[in-house]
Amino acid sequence: MTDYQGLTYLDNAATTPMPEEVLAVIDEYYRFNKVNVHRGIYQLAGRVTSAYEAVREQIAQWLHAPKPESVVFTSGTTDALNQVAFGYAQPRLHPGDEIIVSVLEHHSNLVPWQRVAAQTGARLRMVGMDSQGNLDYAQLAELINTHTKVVALTMVSNVLGTVVDVAKVAQLVHQYDGILVVDAAQAAAHLPIDVTAMDADFLSFSGHKMFGPTGIGVLYGKLARLEEMEPVRFGGEMVDLVTPTSATFQPLPIRLEAGTPNVAGVLGLGAAVKYLEKQDFAAIQKHEARLMQFLLTELQEVPEVKIYGPLDYQQRVGVVSFNVGKHHAHDVATILDASGVAVRAGHLCAEPLMQALNVSSVMRASFTFENQVADLQRLVDAVEQGGRILS
Ligand code: PLP
Repeated sequence: MTDYQGLTYLDNAATTPMPEEVLAVIDEYYRFNKVNVHRGIYQLAGRVTSAYEAVREQIAQWLHAPKPESVVFTSGTTDALNQVAFGYAQPRLHPGDEIIVSVLEHHSNLVPWQRVAAQTGARLRMVGMDSQGNLDYAQLAELINTHTKVVALTMVSNVLGTVVDVAKVAQLVHQYDGILVVDAAQAAAHLPIDVTAMDADFLSFSGHKMFGPTGIGVLYGKLARLEEMEPVRFGGEMVDLVTPTSATFQPLPIRLEAGTPNVAGVLGLGAAVKYLEKQDFAAIQKHEARLMQFLLTELQEVPEVKIYGPLDYQQRVGVVSFNVGKHHAHDVATILDASGVAVRAGHLCAEPLMQALNVSSVMRASFTFENQVADLQRLVDAVEQGGRILS
């Protein structure tokens, strides 16, 4: 596991540590097998290409996707969402069409849609949340209509930890002619993902937030949707026949993976999925629920702490955002750092949500099943001490 040298690391929503088996796979590739994929005639290139494609199959199974071709490797969630926005939506949207996002979105699932709306004349609409930070389903039902072409939602809020019932939203969206795009960046390490059951048209996540390396992610798409999608990057490998003036493209998914891919990243992602698959997921979820219950209960006891989002531990996963009195989140986080506790502080790439919460910044503690109650106890003690120092 990544060695944080004594630091109590509670910034897992930003990126998670990597277990030994993931580190080993990446090390082995770079040390002994660093060849390109899909190109070489020699046996080693063939073996590495097979290993690379085996990860695609593994991920398709993990996501309950019908075919490996529906898994496209990207550099991360941001890249995947941009490809959907500019490769799928932008060529199809017209003035009068509508895109719906929610106030819970990370900038990665908001700003690309703002750009696409500005470029196409489509209207961007934002659905709010209830007092607990859950998606306002009633408002969403009111907003969806025959003009709705895209509904793009996070599965888990990176600020509040609230979970969106994406299957329920899919039913609503598909009553009309729209597609559902799911940002599963904060879900992948905590919740089972079944793209078939949830009926998402597109879904994306990042390897580095689920025990894998940085620079690798996945765009899942229904095959029909991916077929309709235009590549946003052009170059080597994704082409079939090239003349001085034209080019034809490979079938899916290679058509959407121009250039040398992140081979080590893909292999590392495969090892991360294997690591998750070998866990008892029911036990993980029980452990995480216990951690959440402990953190919410104990933080509430600390003077001046205000927690954002639901106080019911069963209504959130992975993250707890809070402030201490009027103290700036950066000041408190700096004191926590001095006590050896790492949390995130700032607007968490979710400025519209900060505005809705009426704050400029928060602190966010985020954990995985690898954390223990003792980690959270150190955080709570440090927050208490920080509050005292600043008062
Ligand atoms: N969506 C959510 C909900 C996130 O929390 C993040 C990262 O924090 C992203 C998207 C962007 O992920 P990446 O930076 O790996 O592309």
